[in-house]
Amino acid sequence: MEKVVIIGSGPAGWTAALYTARAQLAPLVLTGKQPGGLLTTTSIVENFPGFPEGVDGFELMTRMQKQAERFGAKTSFGLVESVDFTKRPFTLIVDGEPVQTETVIIATGAGHKHLGVPGEHELETKGTTYCATCDGALPVFRNQPLVVVGGGDSACEEAQYLTRFGSIVYLVHRRDSLRASKIMAERTLANPKINPIWDSAVTEVLDVKQDKVIAVKLKNLKNGAESILACAGVFIAIGHVPNTELFKGKINLDENGFIVPQQGTMTNVTGVFVAGDCADHVYRQAITAAGAGCAAAIDAERFLATQRQ
Ligand code: NAP
Repeated sequence: MEKVVIIGSGPAGWTAALYTARAQLAPLVLTGKQPGGLLTTTSIVENFPGFPEGVDGFELMTRMQKQAERFGAKTSFGLVESVDFTKRPFTLIVDGEPVQTETVIIATGAGHKHLGVPGEHELETKGTTYCATCDGALPVFRNQPLVVVGGGDSACEEAQYLTRFGSIVYLVHRRDSLRASKIMAERTLANPKINPIWDSAVTEVLDVKQDKVIAVKLKNLKNGAESILACAGVFIAIGHVPNTELFKGKINLDENGFIVPQQGTMTNVTGVFVAGDCADHVYRQAITAAGAGCAAAIDAERFLATQRQ
């Protein structure tokens, strides 16, 4: 029987692991199918305190893992298939095997939001992608026009990164100003290889018949004009959806699927705590996720202490 199982291995998960490990609770971290979480797909993280030169996202997560393991956190690359929170100890089915635990910290993070337009899904891995750092350097994108969709920090970061490879990067945004932080927006708009296309939506990714991306269909949202923009790749960076499918009907979720904490990091199920992007639609930063992971660990530790008394 485990004392603490942490589901997820992003900044929230590893920080919760570090704190519960140091509290000698020997937490079990179930990494899920993307160990290290979404941050491992980022290039340079410039806003995590303590790294004045910035730090590679993958390296940051690897360091967090090592730090937690140094104090006794156990890592399993298991995928949780189902959870039973109806009675304690809780039972999780992990790769077909039951795991029993006194407490759970949910830190499952968030995944990429999709546009939901024709061709997007069909051409995934054939030119449609959600991660410039993962795919940008592929030969198919070299010296070709590329499209990034979105107006937030992710879209700006992707667009800047892609200027290393593409001949030109079109940044297609549905409004006429960026949502990204000021520094990121300024850098992006100052880049001569980035060409913003304002007030526009991608309405289709072409061409499913050719089985590869050759263009996107655009619609100007102000005047309704439609056009075709030739490109070899579409990088979609329009935000995230919480990874909470597993908990539907088991725990309180809001209308967008985010877990709703009650007191501190406790959920509506006593003994189940939550941290990071799966419960945060406001801040969504590595550092706020890490902070929430710390808080969830302290809450779980205190909860276990009261159970022992
Ligand atoms: P975000 O801030 O939510 O921005 C999403 C962007 O996509 C917005 O510009 C939004 O348009 C657009 N969008 C959303 N749904 C759309 C749709 N269906 N069709 C077309 N466009 C759509 O998401 P994010 O950029 O992934 O950033 C998430 C969080 O991570 C933020 O807090 C951000 O600061 C942080 N982040 C930080 C860094 C960094 O500092 N290095 C890097 C990446 C992310 P509207 O503007 O019109 O809503």
